[in-house]
Amino acid sequence: MVSLREIPSVDQILQNPNTEQLLGSFGRDWTTQAVREVLNTEREELKTGKPCPSEEVLISMVSHELQSQAQLSLRPVINATGVILHTNLGRAPLSEDALAQIQAVGATYSTLEFDLASGKRGKRDVHAADQLIRLTGAEAALIVNNNAGAVLLVLSALAKGKKVAISRSQLVEIGGGFRIPDVMKQSGAKLLEVGTTNRTNRADFETAIAEGAKMLLWAHQSNFQIVGFSSSPEIAELGNLAHQHCLPLMVDLGSGAVVDTTRYSLRHEPTAMEVLAAGVDVVCFSGDKLLGGPQAGIILGRADLLEKIRKHPLYRALRADKLCLAGLNATLLHYLKGEAEEKIPLIRMLALKPEEIKTRVEAWIAELGFGSRVKGRSTIGGGSLPGQDLPTYLLALRCKSIPRATAALRQQNPPIIARVQEDLLLLDPRTILPWQEKDLLKGLKSIENHIEVQE
Ligand SMILES: *Cc1c(COP(=O)(O)O)cnc(C)c1O
Repeated sequence: MVSLREIPSVDQILQNPNTEQLLGSFGRDWTTQAVREVLNTEREELKTGKPCPSEEVLISMVSHELQSQAQLSLRPVINATGVILHTNLGRAPLSEDALAQIQAVGATYSTLEFDLASGKRGKRDVHAADQLIRLTGAEAALIVNNNAGAVLLVLSALAKGKKVAISRSQLVEIGGGFRIPDVMKQSGAKLLEVGTTNRTNRADFETAIAEGAKMLLWAHQSNFQIVGFSSSPEIAELGNLAHQHCLPLMVDLGSGAVVDTTRYSLRHEPTAMEVLAAGVDVVCFSGDKLLGGPQAGIILGRADLLEKIRKHPLYRALRADKLCLAGLNATLLHYLKGEAEEKIPLIRMLALKPEEIKTRVEAWIAELGFGSRVKGRSTIGGGSLPGQDLPTYLLALRCKSIPRATAALRQQNPPIIARVQEDLLLLDPRTILPWQEKDLLKGLKSIENHIEVQE
């Protein structure tokens, strides 16, 4: 029978010269806590009859515990899935300039709410707002934390206690718990469902206005699509109708492209500029979807309405932080300078030609000495352009055990997230940033033992 007294005390471990280095790296409090945790676990093990490890082994267990506790859980990964706007993997990667601006503004004090010309207090959202106005032709712009917040804010400020008419086909759930009817309820607006699931027409909206609707809402169906016998009024038509009755039209654009997606052989997504030109009074969209910037909710539209929104208490609660504004600033500048395709990673990924991707896959295979090249499709993701994809080439690896191979890839530094199709591991170069290739190849080489040799 082993006595519990055989286990060294916390002090004994702390005083062991081999613990010195841990104390230096992790501090006394944290190290002491880890020693306690390890000793507690070992005490339990002792009761089951296991022998007590030596002090050296215990210290290495403490070291292991501390290293794993110090590992940051929010870490960069290599996205080899080919899903360009992967919400679980953080949506849009930022441009070098956006990152540099975030670094510069974050490292010191800034003009966040300070007007350099007058030396007086300024407004935080003027920064990106000026660029948004120049880029889209909007009368005014506001930036909040994300688009879900933007929709809630706009409805709360403009439609609380009022009836808002929206087509039944647009009462969607976006994912992550964002449901249009729920957000509307939360804002205090009253939902007036118009038309049927598949078809809604102008007359349906006229009826809704006769029933007391005070605002019309058009919402992007996001990652949902109705195909077949379906129709609903165009944004411009709704705008005309709303304005005939002196009512505002609000549009939740979702992804909010500012580039013409048909350039990349994708279906046309209404751009922020187009909906504003069509007479929409307020439009909101995400900063980190097709815009390719940091997480943000962008609100554009009529100056009088935006002033009302700015004065609402929720605006203060949802306002964007300085790092978001710094990143958005730099991202918008790329569009203004006409260099989005070269500088914004997301747009560059959309623009990549299959031939360029093919060359990359071939270079990987040559370097790795295993794997094969197959044709495939990259998807947009993030609720943008449902059912739309881009032709690509994939690196295909046949694995002995897919669960083991994917787990091994996730253990790389940085972790590699791949796509799985039956017994094939598929990696799409489109979503892998060129500077990540070295790490990718190193990671793939280190899991070679999981790959089946191909003839
Ligand atoms: C993505 C999306 C939202 C939510 O935007 P977040 O920036 O993720 O908060 C709202 N509405 C639509 C139509 C969307 O596609």
